[in-house]
Amino acid sequence: MTAGAGPGRVLLRVDTGACCRSGACSLVAPDLFDQGDDGKVVLRTPHPPDDLLEAAEEAADYCPVSAIQLETLPE
Ligand code: SF4
Repeated sequence: MTAGAGPGRVLLRVDTGACCRSGACSLVAPDLFDQGDDGKVVLRTPHPPDDLLEAAEEAADYCPVSAIQLETLPE
C-alpha cells in the first residue's frame, strides 16, 4: 500500500483555448470539471484528491482534443 499521496501531488490543467466544448470531461468527472456558459471547460480544482485521480485520467483520455493535462509534481 502506498502511503500518503496527499492533495497537491498532481497538478491538473486544462487548455480552454483548445477545448471544443464536447462536455466529455464533466460527464466523466463532474467533481473536477464543469462547463461554462460558453460550453468551455471550467476546472473546479487544479489539485484533484487521490480518490478522483482515476477520474481525472479518464477525463484526459476521453477529451477529443487532449486539452486536459495531468502533471505529477516532484515531492
Ligand atoms: S473533454 Fe476536452 S474538449 Fe470536451 S469539454 Fe472537456 S476539455 Fe473541453
